Parts: sequence; structure tokens; C-alpha cells
Amino acid sequence: MIDLRSDTVTRPDEAMRKAIAAAEVGDDVFGEDPTVRRLEETVAGLLGKESALYVPSGVMANQVAIKAHTRPGDEIIVEERSHILLYETGAAPVISGVTMRTVRGERGLFTPDQVKAVVRGEDTHVAPVSLVCMENTHNKAGGCVLPRGDMQKVYEGAHELGLRVHLDGARIWNAATALDVDPAAIAEFSDSVTVSFSKGLGAPIGSAIAGPREFIHTCRRIRKMLGGGMRQAGIIAAGALYALENNRRRLDEDHRAAHDFAATVAQKSSLSIDLDGVQTNIVIMDVSSTGMQAEKIADAMEHKGVLFTTMDSSLLRAVTHRDVTYEQVQEAALRLVQAYPA
Ligand SMILES: *Cc1c(COP(=O)(O)O)cnc(C)c1O
Repeated sequence: MIDLRSDTVTRPDEAMRKAIAAAEVGDDVFGEDPTVRRLEETVAGLLGKESALYVPSGVMANQVAIKAHTRPGDEIIVEERSHILLYETGAAPVISGVTMRTVRGERGLFTPDQVKAVVRGEDTHVAPVSLVCMENTHNKAGGCVLPRGDMQKVYEGAHELGLRVHLDGARIWNAATALDVDPAAIAEFSDSVTVSFSKGLGAPIGSAIAGPREFIHTCRRIRKMLGGGMRQAGIIAAGALYALENNRRRLDEDHRAAHDFAATVAQKSSLSIDLDGVQTNIVIMDVSSTGMQAEKIADAMEHKGVLFTTMDSSLLRAVTHRDVTYEQVQEAALRLVQAYPA
């Protein structure tokens, strides 16, 4: 099987398992796990923030950050197709008591004017807005990268309105690779940022939140409240550390594989792809012209040894990652072309 469902399917290799087996551990709820501490310091450094906190998942990372930034009754601004809005079980209203107001992004990117237009000031009819969330790379927009200059405008515009900015950077490593900058040069335009170790980097478990020291202290208490305080977590943090140190540099291989896959499918099959939108490791394919539902095509391709996910009835998604080779990804493109020729 050539598994292109997600970069979350990656499994720890021998070298990572060795690092995991050798991890020094302690009780992290007592602040005594040296591996977790080293991971948190490394992450804070890479993102240019004062402090960081290791959490079990990306959803918990975002939700802890939202709760730390807001008070019940607040409104937060999120992009219309953001992960926080669509794929986190509607957690923000439940966990933080906030409502979510949407702005429509272009490839995931929205403008300071769009933010301004939905902030309604001090009128006693309306909920106070406290937070704006960006996502880079943007998952549902097909792994598109928000350019730094545009992020800076949203960041500065939000601050002028007295709002804080959270960045869902689950795939910030891909964004940094695509832009050829340090992750800190992206996280710079956020007050808090969340990152994942268990996607493209290939660690088995975990995400982190980074931001100012006081903020991360608040996050630590909220993580405990949500049941995310972990004891000898160095066992899994060691995989994340190994991934940060060894698996970031190769992400451009995933991007090249996705780019070439998309070029072949767009040119030779009846599926259509917005090639300019293929910027990192995600390819979204519109199957409308086949007259078939995306779900049906995914099933048919499974029989041909390739796994995709569907995003809705007309969109198929492929994600490249470290557990598929360049050759396998191009083979998947050929099988798709064979089944649905132009
Ligand atoms: C995957 C993802 C998350 C959530 O991460 P989990 O570890 O699966 O909970 C959050 N945001 C974005 C943009 C993601 O792609």
C-alpha cells in the first residue's frame, strides 16, 4: 500500500526508537523529566519564544492556548476553513466558553481589514473579541503557506485593535522549509504558536505550545485541568526531540514529491489541481469532471494499492511524508492517471 492519507501515519524508525529507549525520564508533573525540559527549551528556542509546553496532541495545544488567551463570553476570530473551527470537535465553545467568528481566507490567508470589519467595538450588545487565529501551513487550503509579510500585517493590525494573535503552526516546519526561513521567522508574527511533532517530522506523539513565560505557566495549569499532565513523558518527548533534530531538513523532499505528483496528475489525468496552490506536502484534487464521487474514487484506488482521503464529495487529498519514497509517490500518480486518464 502507498499510504498518502496523511503525514500522521509515519512511524518511528530504528534510530528514533533507540533515542526513545535511551531517554532519561522523571515525573514531568513535578517538573523533573529532563527530556521533556530539553524538548521544551529546544522548541522555545526554535520558535523564538520565551517558553514552551509539551502536550499530547495538536488539538489540546490549540484548545489550551485559546483558553489561556480568553475569558468565557469572548469571541475569537478564525478562518472559515481552519482546523480550530472544523476539526477540533467544536471544542472552543465547550472548553473556553467562547464563540467563533469566521473570516474567509484566500488560500488560508485573510487581511487586517477583514479582521477590522468583524470587530464591533465596545457596544454592550456584542461579545468582546480577544483573539485572532492564523494557520500556517493551512491544512484545508491544501498546505498553502501564508507569506511572512501578510502575516505581519494581520499581526500588527490585530494588535492595533487590542487583540492577541495565535498561530496554529501544526505544520510550521513545512512552512519554514518552503519559505527557506527559520521557524522563528514565522512564529514572530504571533503571540502564541502551536506546533506538531507527529506529522511530517515523524515522531509518534505530541505537540507543543510556545509563547511568553507567564502565558505558558497559565497553559501548564490548563493542560493539567484537561488531564494532559503526563508523568515520565520523556519516553515520548525523546521521539519529538529526535524528530526536531533529524527530520526537519528532509521536508523539502516531501514537497518535491508532492509537486511532481501534482504536475503528473494535473497534466495526464481528468482530475484537476490548482498547481499554484501545491506549495508543500499536500495535494488537493478536484474529481468533478470524472462524474464520480471522491469517496468512490478513493475506494477504487485502494484496490489499486493507493490510499487517499476525501475532503468532501468532490475533493480527494494526497499527503506526502517520510514513510513513502519519491518513487512510490510518482507510482501513485501513474496509477491515478491510468484509472482516470485525461
Ligand atoms: C493535525 C492538525 C491539528 C491537530 O493535531 P492533532 O495532533 O491531530 O490533534 C491542528 N491544526 C492543524 C492545522 C492540523 O493540521
